[in-house]
Amino acid sequence: MPTETFEFQVEARQLLQMMIHSIYSNKDVFLRELVSNASDALDKLRLEALRDDSLDVDVSDLHIVIETDRQARTLTVRDNGIGMSHDEVVQLIGTIANSGTAKFLRELKEARETEGTAAAEGLIGQFGVGFYSSFMVADEVTLLTRRAGESQGTRWTSSGEGTYTIETVDSAPQGTAVTLRLKPEDAEDQLHDYISPWKIKEIVKRYSDFITWPVRMAPEAAADGTAESEPGEGADEAPREPETLNSMKALWARSRDEVSDEEYHELYKHISHDWSAPLETIRLQAEGTFEYQALLFIPSRAPQDLFMQGYQRGIQLYVKRVFIMDDCEALMPPYLRFVKGVVDAQDLSLNVSREILQQDRQIQLMHRRLAKKVLSTVKDMMSAEPERYATFWREFGRVLKEGLLSDFENRETILGVSSFATTHDKDEPTTLRQYVERMKDGQEHIFYLTGESRQAIENSPHMEAFRAKGVEVLLLTDPVDEVWVQADPEFDGKKLRSVAKGEVDLGTEEEKKEAATEREGRQQEYADLLGWMTDRLSGTVKEVRLSSRLTVSPACIVSDTHDVSPALENMYRAMGQ
Ligand code: ADP
Ligand code: MG
Repeated sequence: MPTETFEFQVEARQLLQMMIHSIYSNKDVFLRELVSNASDALDKLRLEALRDDSLDVDVSDLHIVIETDRQARTLTVRDNGIGMSHDEVVQLIGTIANSGTAKFLRELKEARETEGTAAAEGLIGQFGVGFYSSFMVADEVTLLTRRAGESQGTRWTSSGEGTYTIETVDSAPQGTAVTLRLKPEDAEDQLHDYISPWKIKEIVKRYSDFITWPVRMAPEAAADGTAESEPGEGADEAPREPETLNSMKALWARSRDEVSDEEYHELYKHISHDWSAPLETIRLQAEGTFEYQALLFIPSRAPQDLFMQGYQRGIQLYVKRVFIMDDCEALMPPYLRFVKGVVDAQDLSLNVSREILQQDRQIQLMHRRLAKKVLSTVKDMMSAEPERYATFWREFGRVLKEGLLSDFENRETILGVSSFATTHDKDEPTTLRQYVERMKDGQEHIFYLTGESRQAIENSPHMEAFRAKGVEVLLLTDPVDEVWVQADPEFDGKKLRSVAKGEVDLGTEEEKKEAATEREGRQQEYADLLGWMTDRLSGTVKEVRLSSRLTVSPACIVSDTHDVSPALENMYRAMGQ
């Protein structure tokens, strides 16, 4: 078979250069990445075998094996999973397709420019950079793979320097074997002796214990043909069976006190491709007729594509420990699309499809319960850990507010966990609870004004009377704010009212009465003028009347209480409605 040579895509080449010349000390993560890929491949094969009866594969012993060869200084991670076709190898291994890696590169560039090379190096180890991380420890990597259902295999080889070769091979075991030729040891590298079974066991235990497939260590074939033995045991012992290194316990099925935060974080990294620890870990065990477990994570940072079309929601669905699908949108409302995690349901068919899930009543109940659980977690965070909540709000507030438009059942809860810019404080946003506590005697409503920016709102003539009377006003500047306020929301029995609409009465009952009588009197006094102005402006405004809301400006335009706001009017106009 001919060997073809290909060039790496530009980004891939950059990333590889970083890997090869990495001075980052925690190189152990390469093994986590290879095991993680193998685990995904096993998930995919099991699923495909379930869905497609004609696929002729043996799925009775799906597993991952790690083999070392001290003589050749190689380490192999082998799985009998889905494998890759020739084209898939070119596409998946030769380019950077995954968004996590693309994001990593962006961050890396930024860190380099602003904080220097050392900071950039630091990022590598914290972040899963996937398959390419092999090149931190290897000077040559070979991948031999055969896709389930295909007869020919593919061998991919590269030293990471610009090009790779691909060759079709007639016989290859089904699945994928990645073989690393380890870089020569140097004094510093004594620390990472990846040939040592102890080292490997330790890394697998630390990073991959929760992997639901067995990760086995093959007994090493020593030069004299006997298996390597553990220290303290006789060297003449018979070759040992492969040893399973991980506990394979699904983290979400174990009780809280059995699992360390670190283990949760490793699972989070595995499913989210995010390198920083999550802001919050949420557990839910539902018992009864429809049993399920959920382990959810709120990330500590919003992904950059959160507002882009096609952003993938990160909940994975399992059925009785069997991975079924990624990005299960039926499990989380769109406004909580930043939540990552795993849901494992006991009573669903392994054959469920996305369409079925959308209509399933039990799934709908689950969706509601999960949404409520996330919101109540945020609520708890708000009272118990204000700083953490502030981070949450900064990262996800804008997307959470979309829920005010779509989730009427939880609207008041969402309002309750929201924060808004306010005239009360220049820098710190306020919650509605805090606003209500500061309300003046006789103030019935929660006042707000929408606009393009804080400055634009503060300069609005509508604000004058409020400023003069010292009444707090919320300053709403997100586009989505224009929309949800239309629904006349209420919090704690108080209506949210725009300061730009209808009559606003400030002050105590008595003052209001006084103001009303005075206004009537003056309305009479100026009746001719006002009538004349209304006439002249007919077709432009509905009515000209005296106002008590201005202190400096001569006039302002006010909408009726139920009219759309000027900003929304502009928005509709821009959309051609
Ligand atoms: P990621 O796992 O984040 O997608 P990687 O760089 O780790 O990124 O892997 C790139 C892709 O290569 C994977 O998405 C997968 O499609 C494919 N791949 C890697 N390892 C294997 C494997 N052992 N079996 C099958 N496919 C694999
Ligand atoms: Mg990977």
